[in-house]
Amino acid sequence: MSITKSARLPLAISLLTAATLVSCSQTKETSQTTDNKSDSATVATAIPVSSTTTEPGTTPDPATIPAGSIADAATILSRKQVPILCYHQIREWRAKDSKSAKDYICPTSVFEAQIKMLADSGYHAILPDQLYAYLTTGAPLPPKPVMITFDDGDLDQYETAVPILEKHNYKAAFFIMTVAIGRRGYQPYMDKQQIKDLADRGHTIGCHTWDHHNVKKYQGQDWVTQIEEPTKKLEAITGKPIKHFAYPFGLWNHEATVELKKRGYLGAYQLAEKKRDDENPLLSVRRIIASGYWSPRTLHNSMVNSFK
Ligand SMILES: [Zn+2]
Repeated sequence: MSITKSARLPLAISLLTAATLVSCSQTKETSQTTDNKSDSATVATAIPVSSTTTEPGTTPDPATIPAGSIADAATILSRKQVPILCYHQIREWRAKDSKSAKDYICPTSVFEAQIKMLADSGYHAILPDQLYAYLTTGAPLPPKPVMITFDDGDLDQYETAVPILEKHNYKAAFFIMTVAIGRRGYQPYMDKQQIKDLADRGHTIGCHTWDHHNVKKYQGQDWVTQIEEPTKKLEAITGKPIKHFAYPFGLWNHEATVELKKRGYLGAYQLAEKKRDDENPLLSVRRIIASGYWSPRTLHNSMVNSFK
């Protein structure tokens, strides 16, 4: 599939189907083998809890953390990982959706039940800047932290997921693929105003490349097209610095962590069980895809088992 060539033509952009983009997310690096009968949903995660809780909005700006007080890679890798969930589309399944596509489409009622489980279990949703402060300086996190993230920028994230999150006072991170901003059709995407609105409401906007090409294949100008230009575009839309990135397909390599760091990125998010980068663990933070097939209990088991 060559999105790059075709997407340069405006006509071709409208022909890019949702199926194409859904398939972009379908690397099987997810942790979906959790036995939903083996654990209790009431098991608490053993994340270190400080008596001082940090509410969203009170985290120091990472830019104010002096370079000298940032822990080394080994220390960062030794800290307990925070469970991080990755969602794509939040909508009912349609007849056309393939079985594998459904892994990336969480039906609204399932999403609602998963988020309710987090709230009922006492989880606090944290944002990328809070995770950065925790990993780099050991700054305290609220009890039972979790991070909720969304990739690609689908409109249903804004229209369906955000009201459910905000009902529980949860904020989330949204990683936007800029080629699709404002696209309408079978699978619509958020427009600029909606992205800005999320940023204004305290959610984090991050970058997810221009058109979802695999970062492992970038050469020369690709870093400008896929990273630098989309970053500037998102900064112009939100009026805020864009400091966090999610790898398309969850795929990455050491070179990509170096290139992102060089361009000022503080955090980059992959998927699943892959080991983090020894030198740049902050640029290879792990997430799991929260499947639409998962009950709240299965999701909880995966969170506990995948982030130790
Ligand atoms: Zn994606």
